[in-house]
Amino acid sequence: MTSERAMVSRRFREQYEDALTCYLRDQELAGLDIVTDGDCRFDDDVGGQSWTAYPPNHMSGLDAQHPVATPAGRGGIWFPRGHILHDYLESRVMPVISGPVGRGNLQYTAMWKAAQRFTTRPVKFGAVSAEIDALPDKIKRSAYPIAGTYNCRAIADTGEPSPHGYGIAIDLNTAVSDYWYWRPHEGAIVYRNRMPEEIVAIFEKHGFIWGGKWYHFDTMHFEFRPELLAAK
Ligand SMILES: [Zn+2]
Repeated sequence: MTSERAMVSRRFREQYEDALTCYLRDQELAGLDIVTDGDCRFDDDVGGQSWTAYPPNHMSGLDAQHPVATPAGRGGIWFPRGHILHDYLESRVMPVISGPVGRGNLQYTAMWKAAQRFTTRPVKFGAVSAEIDALPDKIKRSAYPIAGTYNCRAIADTGEPSPHGYGIAIDLNTAVSDYWYWRPHEGAIVYRNRMPEEIVAIFEKHGFIWGGKWYHFDTMHFEFRPELLAAK
């Protein structure tokens, strides 16, 4: 299906394509050989939520007709009010899993074609998620909903620029994640992890390092650093 037909019912085609071309041109100017669509998703939504809500709202096995608001104090309270992560994480509305999870009416092919039309460099996205989607539900639910990818922000404890600000990092489901800074951290840091090794293996295969291997562990966090894995 062409993007014109796949997306013909949507009201914001021009804004979508404008945003998409900005993402692509930034990456071209930065000299990247392979570019992504910036997780730019084509959906009617509120507050840019389709940035992370597009997959669960389109895959089968999730009850998109009855989304559930995130309970207050889940994730976003670690950031000050008005901070994008506070407002975004505290106001998320997501469907819950109601049956076997499948591809549903995801339109990644149409989105990929739309992005590839605007650049001569190869556009790549979805390599990791396709493999995660093929995992059993019991394992896959540790990945979804993802808690964010591109985000121009500082690291909570150091104030240094976060790899999320460079668009090379992704955080998975915070409900099954452990972050050293969220736990009592006076004195020795006690390691804890609930992220399945199957998910870690898929990311590592595609050039991501895992924050669950750090002393200051962050088990939801994966970062695209193929140069570090190649050096091993
Ligand atoms: Zn992260």
